[in-house]
Amino acid sequence: MATMVCSICKKKFDPQNSTSMPFCSSRCKQVDLGRWLNEDYGLPAAPNEDDLESETGEY
Ligand SMILES: [Zn+2]
Repeated sequence: MATMVCSICKKKFDPQNSTSMPFCSSRCKQVDLGRWLNEDYGLPAAPNEDDLESETGEY
């Protein structure tokens, strides 16, 4: 069985038992989400209304 290491808690876990890939648990997923919200990842500038027009879903 392959195991993965959770990037949040650094714990090994079985991906087949996780419902919150790529994290070991929903709790770690929430931690990651919190980091995003705190902009720890160095997000680009906040989107403005002009960007919405260019994202028409054509991909
Ligand atoms: Zn974890």
